[in-house]
Amino acid sequence: HTQDSSDSNRPVHGKVGRVPVGIGRRRMRIVVTGGAGFVGSHLVDKLIGRGDEVIVIDNFFTGRKENVVHLFGNPRFELIRHDVVEPILLEVDQIYHLACPASPVHYKYNPVKTIKTNVMGTLNMLGLAKRVGARFLLTSTSEVYGDPLQHPQKETYWGNVNPIGERSCYDEGKRTAETLTMDYHRGAGVEVRIARIFNTYGPRMCLDDGRVVSNFVAQAIRKQPMTVYGDGKQTRSFQYVSDLVDGLVALMEGERIGPFNLGNPGEFTMLELAEVVKETIDPSATIEYKPNTADDPHMRKPDISKAKELLNWEPKVSLREGLPLMVSDFRNRILNEDEGKGA
Ligand code: NAD
Ligand code: UDP
Ligand code: UDP
Repeated sequence: HTQDSSDSNRPVHGKVGRVPVGIGRRRMRIVVTGGAGFVGSHLVDKLIGRGDEVIVIDNFFTGRKENVVHLFGNPRFELIRHDVVEPILLEVDQIYHLACPASPVHYKYNPVKTIKTNVMGTLNMLGLAKRVGARFLLTSTSEVYGDPLQHPQKETYWGNVNPIGERSCYDEGKRTAETLTMDYHRGAGVEVRIARIFNTYGPRMCLDDGRVVSNFVAQAIRKQPMTVYGDGKQTRSFQYVSDLVDGLVALMEGERIGPFNLGNPGEFTMLELAEVVKETIDPSATIEYKPNTADDPHMRKPDISKAKELLNWEPKVSLREGLPLMVSDFRNRILNEDEGKGA
């Protein structure tokens, strides 16, 4: 099914009439939930870099202090250890809501906690946005399309999701978070934005998060075989983290609610990805086949025409350019790990 969601795409106007980013705009106070994580920490760097005040809320489930330690001592940066499932009172202008484990290994570790984070965590951040009149951005996911029957996926596609499967805590959780976001917008007039993020990679990804890019890169560096699940013919589209961060900020600062697909339309099979990793890191790297996980989507590729047209955004970094940028970070961390073990 498709749906014309034009209603939610009409321009919206801020109650407070915020000055757009640029010379002479006032400094904002911005909350980033999940800001000690992979994407969040890069977003925080960008917001601090342009002169804003940032409060990170994180419970460190998958995030790490190391990702933001370079900001300690900056008077415009604050870090709060807090679980978004619990309410919190703050006075802020914008909320980037990222808190949620993102890799299948992490979100399946405690599925009930994952869905609580998606539902109660999002509810609390929307309640906060409503109370203080802040603009709220939800980082949803391409997983809302499930195992898609349309290819590439447009925002109008309603998805093909198993409600009782092992991934449901995450994908149904994010679908509910999108619903809550639109209900707070329609019912309480909260200014909202929805991003549907496609697979993203880059420095600071967890080494052990089980995602395919981090697995292949770490395996190639450690001289272990790259583990290809299933026949390796399933496809994904891989976006470099700086492109995503630019897209999130463009969405937050723009006048459109979304949802917007944010991803790189370059599509690769897992075998092709393994080949690029091999070329980038180690020409002698090998492959080992493993059984695939349940409900694994067969293909995924964003249609980003909407973001191109309405946000004037598109990714700039190709997989071949982006991969080397995460390799040195991974090498250093793997080296430190080995030293820690006394190896
Ligand atoms: P990540 O695991 O590195 O970051 C998530 C952060 O949220 C971590 O710092 C974690 O400690 C924190 N967190 C988790 N549960 C929390 C809770 N209950 N309270 C407070 N903090 C909590 O993952 P990421 O890749 O940086 O993903 C960030 C967001 O982007 C997530 O919402 C994810 O669903 C979304 N997303 C990411 C991708 C991707 O490919 N990276 C794709 C689609 C969507
Ligand atoms: N909330 C929060 N911080 C705030 C305002 C609200 O954490 O500054 C939480 C609040 O505890 C509630 C949720 O957000 O659990 C939804 O708040 P809302 O006011 O929309 O609903 P209500 O409290 O009336 O159920
Ligand atoms: N995958 C793989 N080897 C790995 C990890 C993942 O072949 O070591 C595959 C996985 O089966 C899926 C794709 O890579 O088809 C992407 O998986 P990932 O967990 O990175 O993200 P997803 O898009 O499934 O959330």
